[in-house]
Amino acid sequence: MPVLDRVELYHVALPLPAPFAPSWIPGTIRTAHTICLARFVTEDGIDGWSAFPAAGRERAGMGDLLASLFLGQDPEDIDLMAERLHIMAVGGNVNWWLEPAFWDIKAKRAGVPLFRLLGGTHDRLTLYASGGELKSVEARCEEAEKRLAEGFGTMKVRVHDFDEAVDIAHVTGVARHMEGRMKIAVDCNQAFRLTANGPAPLWSLDRAKRFADAAADAGLAWVEEPLFGDWHEEMAELTAHARVPIAGGELHIAGFRELARMARMGCYSIFQPDAMWAGGVAQCLEVADVCRTLGLRFTPHCWSTGFGFIVNAHVFAASGFAGEELYEYPIAEPGWLPEARDAIFTAPMVHENGTFAMPTGPGLGVTVDEAALARYGRRFFAASRREVSWTPSVLG
Ligand SMILES: [Mg+2]
Repeated sequence: MPVLDRVELYHVALPLPAPFAPSWIPGTIRTAHTICLARFVTEDGIDGWSAFPAAGRERAGMGDLLASLFLGQDPEDIDLMAERLHIMAVGGNVNWWLEPAFWDIKAKRAGVPLFRLLGGTHDRLTLYASGGELKSVEARCEEAEKRLAEGFGTMKVRVHDFDEAVDIAHVTGVARHMEGRMKIAVDCNQAFRLTANGPAPLWSLDRAKRFADAAADAGLAWVEEPLFGDWHEEMAELTAHARVPIAGGELHIAGFRELARMARMGCYSIFQPDAMWAGGVAQCLEVADVCRTLGLRFTPHCWSTGFGFIVNAHVFAASGFAGEELYEYPIAEPGWLPEARDAIFTAPMVHENGTFAMPTGPGLGVTVDEAALARYGRRFFAASRREVSWTPSVLG
């Protein structure tokens, strides 16, 4: 039995080529992609990696918990790893994003890409382009034309205005412009409300119904997260009302059991759990099974880090839905590009004519570039079964 011998934590700041203003965080301008990177090493030298968005030093003390809960344990026992992550969560540290690192080790030891280990057969995913900023209708139409020329058949836009007429005019305008050539979806980003940096609209059920009606009339592919994430009854009422698929589920940190309940309630037509938030790889695949049983649709969310993109790609490729659904491809020029997001890897994960070729290497199939890690990262914690090193002043 291989046991975990070492854990390291890094803060990494990857420069963006231009400022990026995510539509879901009003008032925020990002100039760097900042992440917390975790590396687990087994006693026989196998690395398991994962990473999660980092605001700053919020995970500076996490290493103590990781050392005490995971070192000396069998990383291939995913149920045990999940149990320990649950113990952390009960103690106030929700870190489902670490679970894929153990899958990385398990699939590397098996010598196969993770999705193959999980029974997946789809090695090329069809993508939809997922924008991340608010724009004028004219700029959005330009963006859609560019994505269409690159090979994408579907693009997801964002709305976040206080005035619902502005949101409706946006999706109607771009859908009409692209009609018959490209499908348009919309993410309302209402499930998780970030208001720390500026005011943000909060949709009512009535507003969501009016928007869904307009989206259906405009022929949209789906409407994503039009209501707050805890409003399960209202979601189910909206989904029953809507003539367009209602999608969501990316950030439900309670994982499988909550999402399975939501599926049975009819909260969404399309479930989009993200393994980095919603219980890890194993629980997201359980959600996929429930969706199949209930006749619902499934495609994971992945907008976070390069690890988020590839982990959820493995989930999707193994879910049984890859041949019938589209996978998210985050891109918001000029600030948010895969090449900048993935500067920590030896190669970026980029599309080919609107498709993504799953990696052929073992594990998650990505390689952390040690030179890039030395350049952009600072290790703030390391522990083995013999030593502990802790640097709380990681951000200077
Ligand atoms: Mg979303």
